[in-house]
Amino acid sequence: MAKQQGNIGITTENIFPVIKKFLYSDHEIFLRELVSNAVDATQKLRALARSGEATGEVGNETISVSIDKEAGTLTVSDHGIGMTAEEVDKYINQIAFSGAGEFLEKYKDDAAAIIGHFGLGFYSSFMVSKRVEILTRSYREGAQAVRWSCDGTPAFEIEDAEKAERGTDIILHIADDCKEFLEKDKIEGLLRKYCRFLPVPIVFGKKQEWKDGKMQDTDEDNQINDVNPLWTRKPAELKDEDYKQFYRDLYPMQDEPLFWIHLNVDFPFHLTGVLFFPKIKSNIDVHRNKIQLYCNQVYVTDQVENIVPDFLTLLHGVIDSPDIPLNVSRSYLQSDANVKKISGYITKKVSDRLQSIFKTDRPEFEKKWDDLKLFIHYGMLSEDEFYDRAKTYALFTDTEGKHFTYDEYQTLIKDNQTDKDGTLVYLYAQNKEEQYAYIEAARAKGYSVLLMDGQLDTPLLQMLEQKFEKTRFSRVDGDTPDRLIQKEEVAKNELSDEEQDRLKEVFRARLPKMEKTEFNVAVEALGPDAAPVLITQSEYMRRMKEVSRLQPGMAFYGEMPDMYTLVLNQSHRLVADILSGIKADALPAVEPVENELKGLKARRDALRQVLKDKKEEELSDSEREEQKKCDDDIHAAEDKRKALLADFAQHRPQVSQLIDLALLQNGLLRGEALARFLQRSVELM
Ligand code: ADP
Repeated sequence: MAKQQGNIGITTENIFPVIKKFLYSDHEIFLRELVSNAVDATQKLRALARSGEATGEVGNETISVSIDKEAGTLTVSDHGIGMTAEEVDKYINQIAFSGAGEFLEKYKDDAAAIIGHFGLGFYSSFMVSKRVEILTRSYREGAQAVRWSCDGTPAFEIEDAEKAERGTDIILHIADDCKEFLEKDKIEGLLRKYCRFLPVPIVFGKKQEWKDGKMQDTDEDNQINDVNPLWTRKPAELKDEDYKQFYRDLYPMQDEPLFWIHLNVDFPFHLTGVLFFPKIKSNIDVHRNKIQLYCNQVYVTDQVENIVPDFLTLLHGVIDSPDIPLNVSRSYLQSDANVKKISGYITKKVSDRLQSIFKTDRPEFEKKWDDLKLFIHYGMLSEDEFYDRAKTYALFTDTEGKHFTYDEYQTLIKDNQTDKDGTLVYLYAQNKEEQYAYIEAARAKGYSVLLMDGQLDTPLLQMLEQKFEKTRFSRVDGDTPDRLIQKEEVAKNELSDEEQDRLKEVFRARLPKMEKTEFNVAVEALGPDAAPVLITQSEYMRRMKEVSRLQPGMAFYGEMPDMYTLVLNQSHRLVADILSGIKADALPAVEPVENELKGLKARRDALRQVLKDKKEEELSDSEREEQKKCDDDIHAAEDKRKALLADFAQHRPQVSQLIDLALLQNGLLRGEALARFLQRSVELM
């Protein structure tokens, strides 16, 4: 054939600027595209040979990638079916068909769609090349080899050429601004990323070894890929060690996986793969993006967010499916019917696997529960469907380390932990050490206490309160032991309101000031054997704060102070002592003030009664003055009473001591306050 010239058949003036511009961010994929084409050509030849259409030896199938730094070229060579001049014209030149211009216009912001739709795989090589040559010889008997060349404009040349072997060489003359693609390490890195599991051997130079003080080539080919990766093999042929080894190859820095699932479906879509359950103790994020997506063993991406449900992105491993549309926009992916089916399928498989381990080997499942629970809880919280499956094998753990299914646990606590309104109360601790005294107190009442110290336990129990019927979760220190689960009306306090008020005021006067911490003081009769003073924390506020840490947009709750209640146990000897102290030492001074207060308040009430039908502007000056004076007198008397009780409290080191003991029990006594407590303790002894 005489040398020919022509224009590549695209209707748009010039497709290359489009390719260059829109694909720039991803331009390393050219290598994947070229090697994939070489693999396709090789596999087509295999198929033709099998069917008898291609005669002659299949011979060496190896694809080789090489760089020639001096010539500035990168070459991908295969021994596949090759192309005749007509085929080059048809497959390479005529990349356009009707409507191409329109399509480009429509999708010009979506480079991936352009590639996928047009099969522009080969043309992606222009992202990094100033000129591309194809030297190819068809497998057909007596075929003439041809050389095609194009410099990135629509103009191309094609002519007859010499080529000894069947197959195709794609020769890229690397552009000046892309010289990195002539670096050995760069190319080897890309090949390992994209081509590691391709089904035809890919060789990049020779293996090297250290000899005579430098790295030198050996005789052995440097094969990049494993042509039979684990997920393509039959599970029956594989041993546990094979899976573990494969996992180590993929993630050299990870601990051994807990379990794995070998996926294999043919209908209604094709999908193979292996998913591993990693150990996830904490920090969900570091475990993400570890699933690799392949399409017929070609690496596509490790961003699988739109293909599997969010919680499954915590798994590791490989999914290979030709039915996931790869070169389409992310938003399209989510709505794709196949993708939805695949996602549902994987969710079901994962759940089935967990269920079967639970059923057949519960001790093993329990042993691994701690490492699994974050994943399972995350799944239950994010996917209703998964919750419905997992609720049969998800476990509760009590403070002694015993495990229960949800049903088992409900049966266990039903009799003793139902309150007077018929609500089942689940008690839990978040920290066995810190909440030790509360756990013991609850257990002394025959209650079971769960340990809920996981990262997602607070949102989980919020959800379970919705899912379970008439159920409440309460942290053991959420209230006094008697009130945690109220069985009947709590015994009334024996103290008068005045006595209670004085006692509260005395303790309030000695409460330390802490940043973002608020105390409420209450008096209760907890029995002589319970602690004299104890601190409880509002379940609602604490939970809000905990959940706010996990959810954006709830920072407001995080800023709220911690709310505690200081409970004074009036039935305890030490509190009773203080009460009698108040009576003996403070009351002589306090009582007159209280009486005065009573008088003042009565007067204020009477005044209000008289003036209640008048509007503010109808009041006379004297009426206004009288009202103001009464209010001021009340404030003054209240302040005086407070000061008297504070003075009493100051001279009773036992008050501060009791408060500090309660703070200490909750880990709230620190720094200077702790030092003062220690000193006071010595002085009191
Ligand atoms: P796609 O591979 O998506 O069809 P490409 O632009 O990469 O799109 O390639 C277009 C066509 O050119 C291929 O379908 C194939 O027929 C032919 N081709 C590309 N590379 C080779 C090769 N190495 N050997 C034989 N044919 C090839």
